[in-house]
Amino acid sequence: MSTLGIITNPTSASGRGARWGVEARAELAKGGHRLLDLSRGSWAASYEAAMKARRDIDALVVVGGDGMAHLGLQVCAERRLPLGIIAAGSGDDIAASLGLPRHDIPAAVRLIEEGLAGRTTRVDVGKVDGRGVEEPARPRYFGAVLSAGIDAAVASYARQITFPRGPLKYQAATFHEIPRYRPYGVRIKADGREWTQTCTLVAVANATVFGGGLPISPGSSIVDGHLELALAEAMSRTDIIRLFMRLQKGTHVDDPRVRIVPVRQVEITPDPSGAPLPPAFADGELIGATPVSVKVVPHALTVLGAAVAAPA
Ligand SMILES: [Mg+2]
Repeated sequence: MSTLGIITNPTSASGRGARWGVEARAELAKGGHRLLDLSRGSWAASYEAAMKARRDIDALVVVGGDGMAHLGLQVCAERRLPLGIIAAGSGDDIAASLGLPRHDIPAAVRLIEEGLAGRTTRVDVGKVDGRGVEEPARPRYFGAVLSAGIDAAVASYARQITFPRGPLKYQAATFHEIPRYRPYGVRIKADGREWTQTCTLVAVANATVFGGGLPISPGSSIVDGHLELALAEAMSRTDIIRLFMRLQKGTHVDDPRVRIVPVRQVEITPDPSGAPLPPAFADGELIGATPVSVKVVPHALTVLGAAVAAPA
């Protein structure tokens, strides 16, 4: 029997989250575990409750979408505390990257049980720091992808709209943001190399996907000890639409204006040569204003029941 902290998000997947939370609790209780409910009224309050309780629990289980997985990461990364994820969101990029089932509570709980019995995987996380990183979690960890260009503006708008859901939400947000786009100016310092450019897309990938399954960095691995910096040069609005279309299949990487560079550490700073960068997002959550410094923390997170392929 284990003592499990559990956090559920009643608003994930547009209301179905509440029902999934109840189901998850019931499934976990069947295993005879002691459940400590750490859900509070907000992301920040649940985070604070989990941080206080983390020495009293054997694992933390989060139920919901990427926002909940992102919360779990803040509590468990760079600590011995394992994380269980019951994916019940509209995107679930982190769970998908960990080979965890989506919207299947009994299957997810079975994997958590296996994890508690010893089947765990240690995966890399990204760690973001900077004065603009939003409290209460600073520095901030992320599991999937950090965005700081038009991809961040899209993520920001996607978070505000409730319809459509899933991948269509990201598409709707893209069409909303493109008319507002002007090329951003950015100074990049990546593993000691430094340059300035104008750009559309700036992302740092730990996993392959963002925005509900869009393969921004198809070659990324969550266990290879490095991140990928994905950059797209400044381009016309029509070309951005084409680029986003290709992003659905991951074929944007064949465009010569797109560069994907392996990095261990990268600094992203706004530069006056173009429009100001929008606030950065990661795992669908607001991270804060640039400049930010991002680095990989290899094998920093223990995940219950995850199945991740070894890097190619
Ligand atoms: Mg990697």
